[in-house]
Amino acid sequence: MNSNKYVKQAVAPATQLESLLVDLQNKGLRTEGITKGGRRGGAGPTDDQAFLLQGQAVMIPTLNGPAEHSPYSLAQGSSGLLLQYEGKPLPFPFIKAVRRPKFYELSTKDGIPYHKIAVLHGADVLASTVIQNCIRWAPDKRCKFCAIGHSLEQGSTIAKKKPEHLAEVVKAAEELDGIKHITLTTGTPNETDRGALYLAECVRSIRKVSQLPIHVQCEPPDDDSLYQVLKDAGANSIGLHVESFDEEVRKKVMPSKSQISLEVYFQAFEKAVAVFGKNQVSTYVIIGLGEDLEKTLEGCRRAAKLGVYPFVVPLRPLRGTELENVSPPSSDLMLEVYRRVAAILREENVSSAASLAGCAKCGACSALSLFEKLG
Ligand code: SF4
Repeated sequence: MNSNKYVKQAVAPATQLESLLVDLQNKGLRTEGITKGGRRGGAGPTDDQAFLLQGQAVMIPTLNGPAEHSPYSLAQGSSGLLLQYEGKPLPFPFIKAVRRPKFYELSTKDGIPYHKIAVLHGADVLASTVIQNCIRWAPDKRCKFCAIGHSLEQGSTIAKKKPEHLAEVVKAAEELDGIKHITLTTGTPNETDRGALYLAECVRSIRKVSQLPIHVQCEPPDDDSLYQVLKDAGANSIGLHVESFDEEVRKKVMPSKSQISLEVYFQAFEKAVAVFGKNQVSTYVIIGLGEDLEKTLEGCRRAAKLGVYPFVVPLRPLRGTELENVSPPSSDLMLEVYRRVAAILREENVSSAASLAGCAKCGACSALSLFEKLG
C-alpha cells in the first residue's frame, strides 16, 4: 500500500533489540526447514510461527511472501538456533522456537483433535476462533487483509467450537502446557449481537473449569447491554477492532465492516470501558494500509484517553488475501509509529502490562510493548 504520506520525524533511536524485532516482523524469517509448524490462515495475524527472542514471545512471519525472500534466516548452532542476516550472525543471535504444546496430541471423545478447537499463540495464550464463518467473507465484502475462511477450507479447524469442547481444551492446556490466559475471537455471524452472545456462552462454559483470565473479541454488538453480559459470563477484557483510524482507508480495505463507522467504534469503546474498565478494552490498528499518519495517531490518542489500548501491528500480507502481494510497511515507519504511540500510552496512563488478557497482554504480534518499556 502507499505509505508516501508518512513524514519522517526526529525521534530517539531504538535499541537494537527493538529495531531487530520491528524488522523481523516486517520482513519475516526463512526457517530453512529447521523449525516446522506455524499457523496458516485463520483470524488475525497468521502465516507465522512463535519464537522466544531474548525471552520475549514474538510471532514472526515464516509462511507469507515477504518471509520467503527475507534476508533473515535460521541456522542450527551447536547450542541452539541462530538468527542470521544475509548469512551472518546478528548481535542478538539466539532464538528459540516455542515448542509444540502437549495438548495438540489429544482429541475429544467424538474424535475432534484439540488443535482444531484452539491453538497456542505466543508462548502462553490459548486462542480460539469460536465461529469460523463470517457474514463478510464474500469477494466483494471481505476485509482485504483477512484470511479467516482459509483455515476452514484447509480443514485445519472446524466451523463452530462447542462451549463444552472449549472447556475441555482449556483444562488440558492449563494442566499440560501452563497457559496463562485465553483469547476467544469470532467471525461475524450476524448484524445484531455480532457473535457476543455465543462468546458469552463459551466463556460461561470455560469458567466451570478454569479461573484463567479470558479475553473476547467481536465487532461492537448493537445492544450495549451485551458488554455486561460478557463480563457477567466471566470475560475479563474485550477487543473491539477498528483496524484503521483512517475512515477512507477503512472503506477501501473493509468494504463491508466499514459500515460500522469510526464514531460507532468510539461510542462502543466508551460503553465497553464503563463495563470492563480502563486498560481492559483494546483495538487493533494495522499500519501499512495507506492510512494517514496523523489521523492514525489522533485515533490512538482518542482511544487511549478513553482507556482503550491501541494494539498497533504492521500489515501482514497473508497468502490468499487480496493484499498478499503488498509490501509490509517500512521498518522506519513502524519505528516511528511505535515510539509515538508508546509516548501517547505513557501520557494517558494506558499500558499492556495492566491488561489482564488477550493481545494487549500477549503482545507477540507487535513490538509496541517493548517501546512502552523504553519510556
Ligand atoms: S498478540 Fe494476539 S493474535 Fe498475536 S499471538 Fe498474541 S494472542 Fe495471538
